[in-house]
Amino acid sequence: MNNSINNRNRNKNSDIRYKRTDSRQNNHTAASSHSGRQSPPYPSPARIRAERAKARMRRKRRRLILTAATSVVLIAAVAGTVFIIGKLISALTDSKPSSGDETSISETSENSPDTLPPETSSVGANQLTGPASYGITFISDLSSYEEYMDPVDRDGYLLIANKTTSLDESYIPDDLTELADTRADGRTVQKLRYNAAKAFEAMFIEMRACGYTDVSITSGYRSYTYQAELFENYTNKELANHPGWTREQAEEMAATYSARAGTSEHQTGLCCDMHNLSSADKAFANNPVYTWLCDNSWKFGIILRYPEDKTNITGYDFEPWHYRYVGRYHAYKIHESGLCLEEYISQLNTSGS
Ligand SMILES: [Zn+2]
Repeated sequence: MNNSINNRNRNKNSDIRYKRTDSRQNNHTAASSHSGRQSPPYPSPARIRAERAKARMRRKRRRLILTAATSVVLIAAVAGTVFIIGKLISALTDSKPSSGDETSISETSENSPDTLPPETSSVGANQLTGPASYGITFISDLSSYEEYMDPVDRDGYLLIANKTTSLDESYIPDDLTELADTRADGRTVQKLRYNAAKAFEAMFIEMRACGYTDVSITSGYRSYTYQAELFENYTNKELANHPGWTREQAEEMAATYSARAGTSEHQTGLCCDMHNLSSADKAFANNPVYTWLCDNSWKFGIILRYPEDKTNITGYDFEPWHYRYVGRYHAYKIHESGLCLEEYISQLNTSGS
């Protein structure tokens, strides 16, 4: 009897020991060992090993599934990021032409300007027509100004007037038009030839849209008669200031700061002086709008006529306020080449036009 009790106790202790060691793996087995009058058979070490192996397999499977799921999520995240970055890059590339830089022009132009001879005939030419072919986009709607900025008569606005090539007294344009942006300080409304006036008007619209609102035109067309009067006045002033001088000497002095009649580009009706100062001054070049004009005026068919580094060729000191209409095609070529108008026209002539 004692043996029997001892056996039962031993069995019970063994059962408890089993329960302690394996309860994490198989509670059911441990719990069922207390049900019923008789203790169920204890799991053999082999079965325990099998159970443990199964559990290990289950844990392994769970880890595998978890790893696979994490990988899928990571791959999706990476793919999404790559897609978004791709979209961003393509958006940036698409918006490049609006900056109007020369690289984007040749990229977007179907007929690369570099393949065109500079003396291309204007009439009927279908190359480099329209702002898109130059990679130009404006903030403002300037579509109604296109025909003036980019004239059909492409080569019709290259007239030269300088100290060595003068215009005749009889040269008076017949299409002089009032300039919308003449300075409103009581002066006579200035005029330019029709296409030039409209091109400057377009440039002022865009300039204002870009935030430059205080620039105005101070001088446009000047007749031969006006130039002659002006030069005469300066010569007389020099004679008064230098009583011993001859008229020739006085004229020579006057010619250093005023154009002799027929030699002022203002007689062409294609150029004007514009700035935001009380009088024309080189200080205008320090104004941000001057930088804007250097970068953008060609889009309207307009060039800076007397650049700082061309004074020995133009015969004029740097004039950041003096702009000249030539039409978009030539303005683009001049801007791209860095030549001044004299050099450009000379190149056109030697290349066989
Ligand atoms: Zn001028």
